[in-house]
Amino acid sequence: MCMQPRPPNPTHKRMKREKQTIAYMVDLYCKAHHSTHGELCSECREFKEYAFLRLDKCPFQEKKSTCGKCVIQCYRPGMKQKVKVVMRYAGPRMLLRHPGLALHHVWDGHREPPTLAKKPA
Ligand SMILES: [Zn+2]
Repeated sequence: MCMQPRPPNPTHKRMKREKQTIAYMVDLYCKAHHSTHGELCSECREFKEYAFLRLDKCPFQEKKSTCGKCVIQCYRPGMKQKVKVVMRYAGPRMLLRHPGLALHHVWDGHREPPTLAKKPA
């Protein structure tokens, strides 16, 4: 599907769910790798804020597929590396801890990744 960029829609339940999912994943990762309790380390906090910002700026908003399938790949290089590492660790664990969110993510991944229409001249 080809679409015009959509304005940020942070109150949509899909966008809220995306943020909740990434927040849980960073949390699991940071606890296990940086021995934090409750609060994230500064590196993971920066990463989470970056991920939230990307979601706010995502041109597809609630119509997005999953970030892994997206044609845009908007993460900058260092952050892209980190999201891979975090997902690899937290992905399987999400199924146990937050099965509802994990299933939604799998389901969302079955959407055809949309593409962006060229801006009208
Ligand atoms: Zn951390």
